Amino acid sequence: MKTYDLIVVGMGPSSIFLAYELIKLNKHKNILLIDQGKSVEKRICPIAKTGKCMNCLPKCNITCGFSGAGAFSDGKLNSYHLTKRDKGEDIYLGGNDGSYIREYYSNKEIEEILTYTDNIYLEFGADTKLYGVDYINEINEYKRRAKKENIDLVSYPIRHLGTEKAHILYGKIEKYLKENNINMLFETEVKDIIVENNKIKGVKVVNLNSKEESTFNSNNVVLAVGRKGARFLSDLCKKHKIETKIGSVDIGIRYELSNDVMKDINKYMYEGKFIQRPYPYGDKVRTFCQNPSGYVSSEVYDNGLTLVNGHSYKDKKSDNTNLAILVSHHFSTPFDKPIEYGENIATNVNRLGGNAIMVQRLGDIFRGRRTWNKDLENNKVKPTLKSAVPGDITFAIGYRTMTDILQFIKSMDKVVEGFANPENLLYAPEIKFYSNVVVLNKDFETNIKGLYSIGDGGGLTTGLMMSSASGIMMARILDKKMK
Ligand SMILES: Cc1cc2nc3c(=O)[nH]c(=O)nc-3n(C[C@H](O)[C@H](O)[C@H](O)COP(=O)(O)OP(=O)(O)OC[C@H]3O[C@@H](n4cnc5c(N)ncnc54)[C@H](O)[C@@H]3O)c2cc1C
Repeated sequence: MKTYDLIVVGMGPSSIFLAYELIKLNKHKNILLIDQGKSVEKRICPIAKTGKCMNCLPKCNITCGFSGAGAFSDGKLNSYHLTKRDKGEDIYLGGNDGSYIREYYSNKEIEEILTYTDNIYLEFGADTKLYGVDYINEINEYKRRAKKENIDLVSYPIRHLGTEKAHILYGKIEKYLKENNINMLFETEVKDIIVENNKIKGVKVVNLNSKEESTFNSNNVVLAVGRKGARFLSDLCKKHKIETKIGSVDIGIRYELSNDVMKDINKYMYEGKFIQRPYPYGDKVRTFCQNPSGYVSSEVYDNGLTLVNGHSYKDKKSDNTNLAILVSHHFSTPFDKPIEYGENIATNVNRLGGNAIMVQRLGDIFRGRRTWNKDLENNKVKPTLKSAVPGDITFAIGYRTMTDILQFIKSMDKVVEGFANPENLLYAPEIKFYSNVVVLNKDFETNIKGLYSIGDGGGLTTGLMMSSASGIMMARILDKKMK
């Protein structure tokens, strides 16, 4: 039974930036990172060759392994720290807008850490080009147009790595951590944590190949389990009475349309964040993860759920742009199971699609009919996810969510002409699971002494830049605590 100064569960961006910073602080001699997936060079998604998801074992290569969901991400680094802000205006942090980070860190401190994080990405080869900084007048004109439809358009500088380049960049970070003797255990799942007298004592793991179980000791454990680990984290919280607040779940679709329709937005901003609270529900609907000339992708979660996502390459280009349209759902007492709610919707969509992602044309939804293969063959917008099965997603997505999405698309059509073209494609299920938000103090520590949570999993962050930055913050906190 080995004892470590620190154990980190997960090797997504939050975890590996934590390890990077501990190297810089010379506190890395006896730490262990654990992930259920593989090292980055072994992470290959076979869908490009097979045309369909092969349910990789032991875990999905898109979301698990070194650099977590970052490895196959589009690699858009939202450079909030470079946003021009009015005096006193808060720095925009994306998604849930930074939750505890906003509460515990000043704008100045956040700016410093984001600049530092950005510089690490640059050090490992990120493109120096920034999108969203050159066409300020054009962006302002779009903001004005959007405002007329009660839509907010948020734009900020973006760096774009591209999926294949993100892979290479994270590969270099893995090499750097190895050269600095960071212990990394792959294809190993953390099953449980060990808690004694409300203090963390270690973790219980299983090797996913040999099935051998073991225990590692530490008085410091950081949970950096990402969205992939949302269910694991949720169960852990229940079992060990880790304090949480009811979280939210984002349910929606991946929307694919022609580059011609999106060309201005792509050119001026690369990614536009459009946010509206459409009539009659007033739910928050937003665009997310826009991928110009990109590809729609699928990923498999625990319990076999297949979810849709999207990304783009730096060099290989399609004729389409894809983006998520997400509706945030918050539930109030007595219902406190947003993850189960999202899982049920995903299960139903998956069942209707024969365990594959479903696709439907917008015009078919308006006409109350399903989409067939022959409709797609004749469709102007050709699906980039070839394995998607045509059908009727409205059988599975709730009336409220669907109404929100359709209202939003209709309003967006007045801002971006062609946004509601009947031949545009809706893929489902696109669901962003966040565990119930873990209650954290200013040191990102849970109510169990020595147990911390960072990154997307516990609801602290929602993207590459902020999750990486949360790793830097965590390292600096641990530097003061670890001897
Ligand atoms: C296709 C795609 C495109 C994306 N594009 C962008 C983008 O362009 N810009 C952007 O900002 N964000 C993007 N994202 C989101 C971004 O990747 C995440 O925000 C980021 O990776 C979160 O980092 P994290 O460290 O919190 O967790 P993750 O990266 O999710 O890593 C968590 C890790 O924990 C491991 N883990 C979980 N539970 C366990 C367990 N019990 N035992 C062992 N290991 C465990 C998982 O295997 C995983 O490797 C994209 C994501 C995807 C999937």
